[in-house]
Amino acid sequence: MKTISWDCPSCKKLSVAPAKTGALICPHCNENCGRVDSDELFPESCPRCSCTQFYLVKDFNQAMGCVIMLIGIVLVPRTYGLSLPAMALLDWFLFRRIASVAICYRCGAEFRGFKIPEHIKPFIHHIGAKYDRKKR
Ligand SMILES: [Zn+2]
Ligand SMILES: [Zn+2]
Repeated sequence: MKTISWDCPSCKKLSVAPAKTGALICPHCNENCGRVDSDELFPESCPRCSCTQFYLVKDFNQAMGCVIMLIGIVLVPRTYGLSLPAMALLDWFLFRRIASVAICYRCGAEFRGFKIPEHIKPFIHHIGAKYDRKKR
């Protein structure tokens, strides 16, 4: 399911709503927080702040990756070392399967479940810094 999450400016809560074409309504206070152009395609500009730059993060728990590697290490004596590549593979597999989340540089709205276009890259510091400066 495609969802959009954002910080509602009205009630200050974290709002999560399914991406539906039309108004982006806060589920807590019914505030109209923006407009979703399409529930099919990734938005060209952020429905909240109309910013056109997004960055990508993996919705993946780092701790989980560590636990997987730890299991691999613990099992080394029993599996003659085969557990390590097996766990690395599992880690890679999980990582590949974990959905990517796109985040708006300006307002931090998160977009889950969308097919994220190729041009959206992981966080680039100088772009982030630019928006940081704008905020202040
Ligand atoms: Zn609200
Ligand atoms: Zn935004």
